[in-house]
Amino acid sequence: MGLLFLGTPLAWDEARQYADHVRTHGITQFLHIWDRLKDRCGDELLWGDEIEYMVALFDNQERNVKLSLRQTEILAKLQAIVSDIASECGQADSVPTFHPEYGRFMLESTPGSPYTGEIRDLLGVEANMRYRRCLARKHLKPNEVPFTMTSFPRLGTPGVFTEPYFDPADAVSSHSLFLPEEITNPHARFPTLTANIRRRRGSKVAINLPLFIDERTPRPFVDRTIPWQRNIYPEDSEAKRGAALLDHIYMDAMGFGMGCSCLQLTFQACNITEARRLYDALVPIAPLMLALTAASPLWRGYIADVDCRWDVVSASVDDRTEEERGLKPLKESRFRIPKSRYASVSLYISEYWMNRPEYNDIEAPHDPDIFERLRQHGVDDLLSRHIAHLFIRDPLVVFSETIDQDDQNSNDHFENIQSTNWQTLRFKPPPANSPIGWRVEFRPMEVQLTDFENAAYAVFIVLLSRAILHFNLNLYVPISKVDENMARAQRRDAVRSQKFYFRKDVFPSASSQPSRASSIPSSPCSEHGGQIPINGVNGKEKRLRNCFPLPPMPDDAFIPRSIEDEYEEMSLEEIMNGKSARFPGLLNLVYMYLETLDVDEESGRKIEEYLDLVRRRTNGSLRTAASWMREFVRSHPAYKFDSAVSDEINYDLMVAIDEIERGLRKAPDFLPANARPRN
Ligand code: ADP
Ligand code: MG
Ligand code: MG
Ligand code: MG
Ligand code: MG
Ligand code: MG
Repeated sequence: MGLLFLGTPLAWDEARQYADHVRTHGITQFLHIWDRLKDRCGDELLWGDEIEYMVALFDNQERNVKLSLRQTEILAKLQAIVSDIASECGQADSVPTFHPEYGRFMLESTPGSPYTGEIRDLLGVEANMRYRRCLARKHLKPNEVPFTMTSFPRLGTPGVFTEPYFDPADAVSSHSLFLPEEITNPHARFPTLTANIRRRRGSKVAINLPLFIDERTPRPFVDRTIPWQRNIYPEDSEAKRGAALLDHIYMDAMGFGMGCSCLQLTFQACNITEARRLYDALVPIAPLMLALTAASPLWRGYIADVDCRWDVVSASVDDRTEEERGLKPLKESRFRIPKSRYASVSLYISEYWMNRPEYNDIEAPHDPDIFERLRQHGVDDLLSRHIAHLFIRDPLVVFSETIDQDDQNSNDHFENIQSTNWQTLRFKPPPANSPIGWRVEFRPMEVQLTDFENAAYAVFIVLLSRAILHFNLNLYVPISKVDENMARAQRRDAVRSQKFYFRKDVFPSASSQPSRASSIPSSPCSEHGGQIPINGVNGKEKRLRNCFPLPPMPDDAFIPRSIEDEYEEMSLEEIMNGKSARFPGLLNLVYMYLETLDVDEESGRKIEEYLDLVRRRTNGSLRTAASWMREFVRSHPAYKFDSAVSDEINYDLMVAIDEIERGLRKAPDFLPANARPRN
């Protein structure tokens, strides 16, 4: 979340009256940015991560662990030291930033300034993450710990799971049966989002995760921890009227999803063309990385039969009306909308020849008037569709103080819609009046338990992004197949149990072998001061960079007769290690790219440790966090093989995770031996 404006949010009945106003001015704001910056070129590679934490409080007497709701105090303290360091050392730029998040038990941190393409920045990511965790730790109570855990296993269970305790009866925004009002960040934006999603939808959100059925799980499983007979809010009866499914873990509030933590990466591109190219190329990578980083098998006191947060978050903010969801014929609503606002990407957006129209093969409704307006202004078809697709949504939070904006100098209305479209990738235009260029955000990954792992996945993705641009790889498969992969990625043990659709031939032309650094034509932006490769003595490049040329379609481009011939189902191991000369595998492509870089031996060794983690998680010689946690619970002496995760089991699990994170406990089936804290 960015800066939070303090103002008076409108309740849904009022806010909805400004929906067209926000959309119209949001598009005006986008067009101002477009006019000013569509030809902006030559931005260097800058990139950064976002890590979300949940703060847990250990009660070692009771052997219980709860979520600590002290976000406001903790952030105030962190803010104070940050200004302190900055004023003392004049280094505001390099002091990490902590941001508020949806959950009152959450924190988000980002590096103080983005990383550059320097190899030493790549190798500094882990230390930066550790530094941030250390800063957070220092400003917590002795028994509070910042966890990088995707979902808290006991969130929403009967009894006490927060410190201090609050009764869910007071959940005036969500009307949840399980989560109190105080689970949510008190800043007006968050309760309003929560309430307006419920009001717009016309009911509470309904999340049903398939339960992991164990040897002694009662069947059919009727969840006794649901207060079926509660009668406080009008929606209380929804559970018994069909919202809660048998054999599922039922959840009914935004907090279950937006209370999850994840790992996100943002990359600045050379120009808008490169940003769109990179966005598309990472779309098919998203489900693979979701499967590899799977880290959330435990929900509301139960073991789920899925390993990831994605569908939970998706359902937790699903504000679509019954008409939009296709349950009733359209009368009041304008569109039938196949997906929640939090969902996988529905449209490829690059105009490069590799993006064939057939790949955009799913229903992705767009606002025809907005589309027409963008086209009339000169925005191309694909980008117009992308924006007009995002803009089928209503703004959920409107502040009375900021309804009228200076559209030349603000992008608030644009961001209102843009930033409540939570997709696997986000195409980020430059903010108004800032030095920042066109960016792409990679959003599918689950946060990992240790900074070693978080750094490893960050480094892998930044290297893969350069390999894609350097070798001009073609990774397109139809979006419908990417969506199928998203569903598969979340299944239990997807890394080993599932196959994924992937492209058989990733090189642009039938004859070309991947090019070498020395054969790269000069940068497309060189006249504008773009990034010309800086070569070392051996002709290898000294840093990761932007501004790769996009050659026209080669004469011998491989265009099969039908799209179906372009892809096949592969195991994740095949996708990483390769299947043929025409597809050497993502890891090998990264190694081939590394060959073009001037990396000294020690740096090479450290990068190899990260890539080795990715390799070993892929081939199953190391478990994913999800698999490790599931196994921990199932082998706990107090586990009754009934799918339930008690306070006692959860306490021991979180103690173990904290010890692993601090390097005090070995988990050889989960982490390599060398993944010890390095500070
Ligand atoms: P959001 O919450 O909107 O996704 P954040 O501000 O939390 O974004 O995080 C943005 C990330 O992008 C941070 O890691 C930051 O270091 C990084 N970043 C900042 N400026 C740039 C830039 N010009 N190009 C690429 N990344 C950047
Ligand atoms: Mg966040
Ligand atoms: Mg953020
Ligand atoms: Mg933000
Ligand atoms: Mg979040
Ligand atoms: Mg983000």
